[in-house]
Amino acid sequence: MKDDAVPDAQPPASATNGARLVIAVDGPAASGKGTLARRLAAHFGLPYLDTGLLYRMVARTMLDAGELLDDTEAAAATAAGFDDTAIDEARLRGREIGEAASVVAALPTVRRALIDRQRRFAAGGAGAVLDGRDIGTVICPDATVKLFVTATPEVRAARRHKELAGRGEAATLDGILTDIRRRDARDSGRGDAPLKAAEDAVLLDTSALGVEEAFQAALAIVESRRRG
Ligand code: C5P
Repeated sequence: MKDDAVPDAQPPASATNGARLVIAVDGPAASGKGTLARRLAAHFGLPYLDTGLLYRMVARTMLDAGELLDDTEAAAATAAGFDDTAIDEARLRGREIGEAASVVAALPTVRRALIDRQRRFAAGGAGAVLDGRDIGTVICPDATVKLFVTATPEVRAARRHKELAGRGEAATLDGILTDIRRRDARDSGRGDAPLKAAEDAVLLDTSALGVEEAFQAALAIVESRRRG
């Protein structure tokens, strides 16, 4: 699996002081968790895994093969068998793949098939940073630090709108807000590993924070948890 840590921002090797550090970053779509997780990984010199890409890869592979997303058997076989070194982010980032990913992510067979890959990633060397929906609750219940990153649906829609526009993908703000609300409802309402904060997660609302402020707030939480 690709190690996605930001290569040009490696801190000194002592950033984790030799102690294993696993940071779980969960939250809804476009909450800013990916940006934060990537920055934290770079800061501590840890590998980073965007677990949403795994669900997006399952959906993309099924759509490419002409399979229906509610075909439970095909979805389970795809999740168990795909090559995660072949992940091509550019083909996975589109708006419709996020929606399709949340459909396959609601299937318990798909979730089960993806657990080991994620846990193996977290088990490596000095630790890791993983972001997703169930990292603190299911994948890494013993993570050193758990962050639950939120922002209002309106703020998240505006961020996603800007991101899509930057990639030349046309979409209205209203349409994106509708997508976000539907995805939140599906991710929070599913029976298996729903989106929710772990009991020992620290909540970070980024609605009124810029990227740097959010990173500094997240860093302060991580440092305080490590000390505590
Ligand atoms: O994080 P991202 O928006 O890329 O995730 C796409 C979809 O994959 C989410 O809406 C969610 O349904 C699913 N997902 C999940 N568990 C994760 C990561 C993503 O269910 N750990």
